[in-house]
Amino acid sequence: TTGQPLLALSSVEVVYPGDLLALSDVSIEVSEGDVTVLLGANGAGKSTTLKAISGLLAAEGGSVRRGAVRFRGEDIRRLPTAERVRRGIAHVLEGRRLFRQLTVEENLRMGAYARSDSLGVNEDLDAAFALFPRLKERRNQKAGYLSGGEQQMAAIARGFMARPKLMLVDEPTMGLAPGIAREVFSAIRDINAARGVAFVICEQNAALALSVAAKVAVLESGVVALFRPAADMSIEDDIQRAYFG
Ligand code: ATP
Repeated sequence: TTGQPLLALSSVEVVYPGDLLALSDVSIEVSEGDVTVLLGANGAGKSTTLKAISGLLAAEGGSVRRGAVRFRGEDIRRLPTAERVRRGIAHVLEGRRLFRQLTVEENLRMGAYARSDSLGVNEDLDAAFALFPRLKERRNQKAGYLSGGEQQMAAIARGFMARPKLMLVDEPTMGLAPGIAREVFSAIRDINAARGVAFVICEQNAALALSVAAKVAVLESGVVALFRPAADMSIEDDIQRAYFG
């Protein structure tokens, strides 16, 4: 390899319709196989950062007005989301958004919609069910009947089915009981370890996120105020600051 990061955002500025400035200076670098967590108060710009990476920003009329978004060295700022998916970026949205009337297996297969290697898709489906045994037991059940934790796992498994190099995960433990939240993070750790998939995760539960993350970016009002190895974060000081300024 050339030593370039998998993903690099430099001085990214994002506006939404009405000239609303959501990000004013976001710079982060993610190496291959790295887990990075984004922390910050509500409205700090965590979700917007993920949407700038996946391209889903466009669906909300937002755009990257300045700065660069590079994936494997290439500028992806103007690429549609489908092309970013094809290049290896999977975005697991906040709120899970499964197809409730489809089965668990059908939902997972939807994650592979951009792929034409049906053999590889079947292999990955087996791999997903090995990573998420609860989903395997429920593969023929409608997704609408899953518990909240199972739905979150299915949403992550669906992202995994795109065979991504980078997964963007928005608030994966929102509304989940602590034990289930730990299971969700342990599944993320397994995907990372088994496949070397890199992650950028927005998470309110800082302690849980720090147990998995290699790096932490703290967002304050659309600016990355801190970006450093998770091992160097002191929960008391830095997290306090992230949430309360
Ligand atoms: P939360 O945890 O509440 O989702 P966040 O850190 O993810 O917060 P964002 O959702 O990225 O923050 O929001 C950043 C800023 O952009 C906020 O001021 C928000 O009101 C604004 N914003 C987000 N989405 C839109 C949109 N579709 N149109 C206009 N403004 C938006």
